[in-house]
Amino acid sequence: MSEKLSFVNPTANSPWGTYLSQVDRVVPYLGPLARWVETLKRPKRALIVDVPIEMDDGTIAHFEGYRVQHNMSRGPGKGGIRFHPDVTLEEVMALSAWMTIKTAAVNLPYGGAKGGIRVDPKKLSQQELEKITRRYTSEIGIIIGPHTDIPAPDVNTNAQIMAWMMDTYSMNVGGTATGVVTGKPLHLGGSLGRVKATGRGVFVTGREAARRLGLDLRGARIAVQGFGNVGSVAAELFAEAGAKIVAVQDHTGTIVNPNGLDLSKLVPISRTDGVVGFKAGGDIVPNEDFWSVACDILIPAALEGQITAERAKTTTARLVLEGANGPTVPTADDILAERGVLVVPDVICNAGGVTVSYFEWVQDFSSFFWDEDEINVRLDRIMMNALNQIWDTADKHKITLRTATYAVACERILMARQERGLYP
Ligand code: GLU
Repeated sequence: MSEKLSFVNPTANSPWGTYLSQVDRVVPYLGPLARWVETLKRPKRALIVDVPIEMDDGTIAHFEGYRVQHNMSRGPGKGGIRFHPDVTLEEVMALSAWMTIKTAAVNLPYGGAKGGIRVDPKKLSQQELEKITRRYTSEIGIIIGPHTDIPAPDVNTNAQIMAWMMDTYSMNVGGTATGVVTGKPLHLGGSLGRVKATGRGVFVTGREAARRLGLDLRGARIAVQGFGNVGSVAAELFAEAGAKIVAVQDHTGTIVNPNGLDLSKLVPISRTDGVVGFKAGGDIVPNEDFWSVACDILIPAALEGQITAERAKTTTARLVLEGANGPTVPTADDILAERGVLVVPDVICNAGGVTVSYFEWVQDFSSFFWDEDEINVRLDRIMMNALNQIWDTADKHKITLRTATYAVACERILMARQERGLYP
C-alpha cells in the first residue's frame, strides 16, 4: 500500500496499479455507464485478520490474513484463497478485482472476492496447516457464506484445505454448509472436473485463439511458466493435441528441450522434486533464458508481474495464454500488442476454474451431481461463447482482447450497479 493509505493510490508496479490502469483503458467504451466506473476502482469491503496458532514446538505464531470483497453487484463474492509468503492486502485487492471482471466476462452470477494468508505453507506441518486454515476461516466467517462470499483454492491451497474450511464454517453455524466453498473433495460435495478445470479452460481458449491465428497446434512449440495445477494440466492437453512443450519453469528452475519434454515423466517428477528433477529429459538453463526460448505459444501460469517490458521484447511467441492472474504488466501489454503478439487475457483464459466452481456450487444446492462429460461440455460451451463475444467486441472497436474483455465485463457489472441503484 502507498504511504497515503488509500484504495486509489497503488504502489508502483503493483498488481493493484496494473488493475487500475486496465480499468482506465476501458472507460472510452463504456458510454453513459462510465459514470459508475469509480465503483470498480475500490473494493466494497476488505477484512484483515490476525491468525494465531500454536506451532508444533509449542511457540505461538501470528500470521496476517485477508479477505477482500471487491464487488457484489451481480451476485455473491467468489474467489480463491492464496497461501504465500508474499501475499499483501494490496495484492489480494487486485486479485479480488480480477475475479469481479472474470465472473462477469464469462457471465457467471457472481461478484469478485479473494483471500490469502501471508505464510509459506511449505514450512508448516500438516497439523499446523490445518490449524492456520481453521483459525483463518473462523476469523473471516463473519463475511463469508454460501450466499454472500464463496472461497475456493488458489496458489498453494487445495481440496483438503477446502474441506477444513467447509468443516470449520459448518461447525460454527451448526450444520453442514457444503456450498460455502468450492474445490472440495468429491465425496464432500466437490465436482468432477474441478481440479483440471483451470488448465482445461486455458487449453480451450488457446485452441480457439490458435485456430483464428492460423497456428497449427500440431508441432507448435510451447513454453510454460508455473507447473502446478494450471500449467501442468494445460501442458498435457496441448501435448495431447500434438504440441511440443519445449520449456518449463517452476520454483526450482527452468528446463528446456527443443524436441519437446516427455510429460509422462516430467509431470510426476515435478510433483516431488520440481521440474529440475527431470535433468535426464532436457537441459537446465538460467531462469531468465526462459523468456527468450524459441516458441510459438507462451503460457505464464505462475504469479503476477512476470511478463515485464524487457521480457515482452524478447519473447518469440505469437500467442500468450495467461493461465496466471495478472502475469503481464501494462507496459509489456503495449509492447506485445505493437509486436503483433496476441494475448488471451487472464480474466477469460483462466476462467475455467471459477466456471466449474460455479457448477460445483449449483450441484451442492440441488444435491444432484453431474457426470464429467456434462461438466466438460458445459465448460467448453461457456468459455467458447464468452471468447467469441469478446473477439467480436475487439474486432468492432479495434482493441486488444484484454480491453474487449473489460468492456464486456464492465458493462455487465456497471449495468447491474445502475439498475440496483445506490442505497440509501
Ligand atoms: N482461484 C481461482 C481463480 O483465480 C478460482 C476461483 C474460484 O473457483 O472461485 O480464478
